[in-house]
Amino acid sequence: MIKIVNPFEKVFWESIMNKDRSDNHSDIGHLTDEQFNVTQEKGTEAPFTGNYLHNKESGAYLCVCCGNRLFNSVTKFDSGTGWPSFYDMDTDESVTIESDHSQGMVRDEVLCGDCGAHLGHVFSDGPAPTGLRYCINSLSLNFESDD
Ligand SMILES: [Zn+2]
Repeated sequence: MIKIVNPFEKVFWESIMNKDRSDNHSDIGHLTDEQFNVTQEKGTEAPFTGNYLHNKESGAYLCVCCGNRLFNSVTKFDSGTGWPSFYDMDTDESVTIESDHSQGMVRDEVLCGDCGAHLGHVFSDGPAPTGLRYCINSLSLNFESDD
């Protein structure tokens, strides 16, 4: 005998499964230990060690957790600090800023606007036109080349 799946039951289970997916923007199962430490535990990579510090290719920098577009290479500049630096975010919703009082300092923390992953900090000593310096860990980024 063929088992007929009750259509309401099917819809019910599909809605639960979809809900689980949409509640969890951040797909972090693929992260390395270092990427997990930075994005989920607010760690900081050692200066001058990041993959993207000297990357001069044109393209987009994406959240390593969820793929959200965060920064564009046109706003990347050499700050000399040892971390990839940008003077602006890709769009107004790319990142969110929160006050961070950790380690005895008051800093503005930069978070992914979509999944809330920790990216780095933003300082007000950047170049024109914004005067901002987004100091970002390479470990929180993926790069998508324009080519
Ligand atoms: Zn994200």
